[in-house]
Amino acid sequence: MSGSHPGTQALLAPDEPAAFRIINSEGSGSAVLVCDHASNQIPRRLGTLGLGTGELADHIAWDPGAAEVAQRLAAHLDAPLVLSGYSRLVIDCNRPLDSPESIPEQSAGVPVPGNLGLTPEERDARIHALFWPYHRAITRLLDQRAERPSLLLSIHSFTPCLNGQSRPWPIGVSYGRDRRLAARMRHELARHGDLLVGDNEPYAIEEAHDYTIPVHGEGRGLLHVLIEIRQDGIRTPAATATWAARLAEVYVSASFGLGAPDFGSHPLKTRLALTGTLIAERDEKPRSMS
Ligand SMILES: [Zn+2]
Repeated sequence: MSGSHPGTQALLAPDEPAAFRIINSEGSGSAVLVCDHASNQIPRRLGTLGLGTGELADHIAWDPGAAEVAQRLAAHLDAPLVLSGYSRLVIDCNRPLDSPESIPEQSAGVPVPGNLGLTPEERDARIHALFWPYHRAITRLLDQRAERPSLLLSIHSFTPCLNGQSRPWPIGVSYGRDRRLAARMRHELARHGDLLVGDNEPYAIEEAHDYTIPVHGEGRGLLHVLIEIRQDGIRTPAATATWAARLAEVYVSASFGLGAPDFGSHPLKTRLALTGTLIAERDEKPRSMS
């Protein structure tokens, strides 16, 4: 490692995957899909973050199965899809930059040695190389579609058991202030499959902990839902295909007739307009952990 410093060189080598992937960018459907935790890839410069192969394959590093469901769903709905290219352990694209979980020092009780004692330059390297490119891609995509309806669907998966607690919902929907789309999705999901559907479970969306839906959904006044699928239900290609087909059917019913959303003015619009530069973000929202 001598002579190399993540703050002074590009984090990603030219031959490494990009910070994000866009699939079906010209999709004509009303849905826009995003997948914040699509990958468990680590930039080569960061080694393994001090973790073992098993830990990097586990749910702490990414959302297993979520990218597969999202890609199939994008095909069903002719929807564009933006996928993050790197592990949430490097930087979590669904956490505000001032969250302690942005670059987590531990996850579900597992210490992440490669995230300990980072310099500001090392943090900035991850933010500039991974976080902003992913979110700017979503911003650009939504800007390009400004003249037509876009409903934002954020696709995640969750571990069946966390901290000794098993989670009963095969799927859950989460939402912020506007629960219209989530409520309809939940209703349709329950109706189709006699399912126990989580209502802001296993996770609720909060501005302190979430980034993607608050900024790109609520911040733009777009109807939105965050979908969490339990990982034991999407472990095979056949299972992901089944969930994607069901979600497509449910979305079509749930989105039918939903009027143009109108949030009025929202402070996050200001924040969204400033996402172009890290400096602006910092000026607008100073870091404070108190
Ligand atoms: Zn996730």
